[in-house]
Amino acid sequence: MIKYHLHCDQGHEFEGWFSSSNDYDEQHQRSLLTCPQCNSSNIAKALMAPSVPASTKGKDMVPMATPHPVPAEMVAKIRQLKREIEKNADNVGERFPEEARKIHYGEAEARGIYGKASHEEAAGLAEEGIEFLPLPELPEEKN
Ligand SMILES: [Zn+2]
Repeated sequence: MIKYHLHCDQGHEFEGWFSSSNDYDEQHQRSLLTCPQCNSSNIAKALMAPSVPASTKGKDMVPMATPHPVPAEMVAKIRQLKREIEKNADNVGERFPEEARKIHYGEAEARGIYGKASHEEAAGLAEEGIEFLPLPELPEEKN
């Protein structure tokens, strides 16, 4: 899923979710996109925000999103992504920031890990140029 920030010729801003950039292009070409405020079909794309950032290296901010409601299709994709990660990586739980640092600085075996980190810890890792993927929380994981 890709989120695009869109705006119409009247300057109204809104967001749209698309399965791919081709999906957006097709809907755009067929004038299927309309402004929710004025119904104009003269829509243009502002900036692109990928739903899952590939890397936070060199950035001060950690990209985050809390789409609501989360479409079922997206939850299924996140679940699948998490399963893939869990299959190929070690669960280090709350030692995630510590382990990620060790791996980054060559003090531990280079391998895939997953676990938990606070927003502050995640920001610290990003500042040090340590690559990681913030994983979205699934509804069944909240308690
Ligand atoms: Zn409009």
